[in-house]
Amino acid sequence: MIEFKNVSKTYDNGTHALRDVTLTINDGEFVFVVGSSGAGKSTFLKIIMREQVANSGTVIINDYNLNKIKKRDIPKFRRTMGIVFQDFRLIQNMTVYDNVAFAMRVIGSKEKEIRKRVPYVLSLVGLSSKARQLPTELSGGEQQRVALARALVNNAGVIIADEPTGNIDPEMSYEILEVLNQINKTGTTIIMVTHEHELVRHFNHRVITIDQGSVISDTGVKIKEEAVHTAVAEAETTAEKIEAAEQEIMEKVEKSHDEIEETKQKIKEKEPTAYYIQPNSDSELEEFMKNYGLDDIDYSKYLDDKDGGAEE
Ligand code: ADP
Repeated sequence: MIEFKNVSKTYDNGTHALRDVTLTINDGEFVFVVGSSGAGKSTFLKIIMREQVANSGTVIINDYNLNKIKKRDIPKFRRTMGIVFQDFRLIQNMTVYDNVAFAMRVIGSKEKEIRKRVPYVLSLVGLSSKARQLPTELSGGEQQRVALARALVNNAGVIIADEPTGNIDPEMSYEILEVLNQINKTGTTIIMVTHEHELVRHFNHRVITIDQGSVISDTGVKIKEEAVHTAVAEAETTAEKIEAAEQEIMEKVEKSHDEIEETKQKIKEKEPTAYYIQPNSDSELEEFMKNYGLDDIDYSKYLDDKDGGAEE
């Protein structure tokens, strides 16, 4: 991971090359860095490679804090990245194979390992058939692919490419980008400075625009913001759906309550009304009987003389 926090760089002559740059490039990203000449793109790359040191701010790259890195650790740190330049920087009197093998030899790799690894990396960049040729016998695009193979051969996690298509025909540029895309698909982070807007438009990668030392736009951040907006919108829709479902459930519960009450009422209505009148006195009983037109009925025949007599 590459992390810049409030990074500024002012050269000794007073030129402010980077101003308060804060950004993160995650492992496996493919990032284009664009901006006019003198904007600060190379300074940005040089700080990443620890060729220049920031005056202020924090730079953390692949677990190395570049503010605190010890001098003796810098070569080891640089091996975590592969670098590709606009002018290829191949060794002219060495074959394609040896140019790539050389990058392994300088870090002390064993010949056996080199013999296995170099053909593999050359096949990744589509140059297996050119292994015995000299750089002068290759096209610009092919030379840049050799440079890419050299950048990859020591298993760098990050490829820094400073205008890699600057000296190449337009069609060949697409080829180089295709190779970089393939490399990126294997998990390698790619940071590429370019002037070629066509290329940037054609390949849908994150674009960081630097102007007068400041990052003036970063589509990576925009994509993240969009993702957050989408997630919030989705969450809101889900919350609305839940609320609507709750409302529906509440209505159903209320409806069933009403139905229960209605049923209870119906049951109640169907029940015979059973009540007793317990008159408090004989005069009350007489009154009641009169009200209901029952005063001339002789009840004595219904009464159990014995029980009634016993009660009294
Ligand atoms: P870009 O790569 O976008 O063209 P640079 O990072 O090379 O921009 O340069 C940014 C600014 O810093 C420019 O004004 C440039 O002249 C200045 N600059 C670059 N390198 C040095 C240096 N070593 N000493 C002084 N000024 C520099």
